[in-house]
Amino acid sequence: MKKIVIVGAVGGGATVAGQIRFYDPDAHIVVFDRDSTMSYAACGTPYVIGGVIEDERSIIMTDPEKFKKKRDVNVKLQHEVLEIDREGKKVHVQNLVTGEQFQESYDTLILSPGGSAVMPDVEGIESSKVFTLRNYEDMQRIDQFIKTQQPKNAIVSGGGFIGLEMAENLKHLGLDVTLVHKSPTIMSILDTDISLLIEKELALQGVKLLTGTTIEKTEGKTIKLGNGIDLQADFIIMSIGLKPNTELAEKAGLNIGETGGIQTNEFMQTNDPSIYAIGDASENSDMVTGDPKRVPLASPAHRQAFIVAQHLTGNKLAKKGLLGTSVLKVFSLTAAMTGLNERSIKDKNLQSATVTHTGNSNAGYYPDHAQITLKVHYNPETRKILGAQCIGGKGVDKRIDVIVTAIYAGLTVDDLQALELCYAPPYSSPKDPINMIGYKAITK
Ligand code: FAD
Repeated sequence: MKKIVIVGAVGGGATVAGQIRFYDPDAHIVVFDRDSTMSYAACGTPYVIGGVIEDERSIIMTDPEKFKKKRDVNVKLQHEVLEIDREGKKVHVQNLVTGEQFQESYDTLILSPGGSAVMPDVEGIESSKVFTLRNYEDMQRIDQFIKTQQPKNAIVSGGGFIGLEMAENLKHLGLDVTLVHKSPTIMSILDTDISLLIEKELALQGVKLLTGTTIEKTEGKTIKLGNGIDLQADFIIMSIGLKPNTELAEKAGLNIGETGGIQTNEFMQTNDPSIYAIGDASENSDMVTGDPKRVPLASPAHRQAFIVAQHLTGNKLAKKGLLGTSVLKVFSLTAAMTGLNERSIKDKNLQSATVTHTGNSNAGYYPDHAQITLKVHYNPETRKILGAQCIGGKGVDKRIDVIVTAIYAGLTVDDLQALELCYAPPYSSPKDPINMIGYKAITK
């Protein structure tokens, strides 16, 4: 019987355990996680804090007891894997409750250790109430603080996905929110014109935005910014980035790539073929350019779990590379993107042209239509699509998902005019924004 040990019991780890069991009824599967909650939707945590999701337990998919009963997988929470002995094919584990240490042997080891929130070195930070939001316990800490201390104002440091979701949810609770962001515009994965539309929405919703600066020093509730401004805040949410958890892999001599993630081949194997790495800590390649890429999002972790389960059960299903497809709700706006943005196209010195279309999500005479802007970058010679961004009301995610499929299938920008997409007035128009991009590209 094959013995599989997995490090991490959330996004990638719990998924790969379930997938392997689906294809291999006999494997002996053991999962270790140093936290005390398994298989929860980290993506739902900002909405629990904001009260949009009322029952915090609803974001937990399962627990060790249920998982054992349903999938015959042994999950050991509050167990930290301290070291990998590659020669002996064993991991060294510590029970964080009892302090007991022991060894667990493996035939295959799967690493899905995720990442840790980056905490900047700020003078006086220990005198202030500062939170990061990375796991279930972080969510509970923030939620408890808000419920018991009834704060009036908050600073969110970092205008990426988590920062913006937290800004919206704290505002939803009636707090006075200031978002502080280091770069001149927020959401660096988007083109600047799209980011600016998000900034406009934040202003409309009463979130104060200070860009081009960072928190330099804190003295209790007084927060001093690099631009000389002093703010008052009852607490800070620090959401300035994620560092992949690669210490275990590094100590074991596994290769770390240029993105800082654990290098993997097309089947998610590391340089040791009996050790796989998936999820936020793994390095993969860019589907468009082939360059190394790391995408710390849930969808890639789930796709990678499937590739590993397939490989372990005899199906060599190679990965295709990542696009970094993502979507974000900011109050009444949705912004989504896939593939390369203007900045990465410029950095990589690629030839590109862009078609933009602003129009209605669905028939303009139908009551709940909304405006959307769709931007598609393509190579003017090969006509292949390099990336796309979309922002507006409803239907933004659907347009980006169509572009994802087009890139995956190797379609050209001109092919978009020919796609026969769903149409009825509540959903689209006979000439969908996707078709419009194709028409415009052909005439360009
Ligand atoms: P994780 O799910 O983080 O799991 C890693 C686990 O490994 C952790 O529990 C950790 O404690 C454990 N671990 C690490 N080292 C050890 C060790 N040595 N021993 C034992 N255990 C260890 N993605 C999206 O696609 N869409 C979203 O809307 C979205 N929103 C998000 C919102 C928030 C607030 C956060 C935090 C993340 C969000 N994500 C979102 C990202 C998504 O949750 C992750 O990409 C996904 O969970 C990655 O899975 P993973 O298995 O790599 O890491």
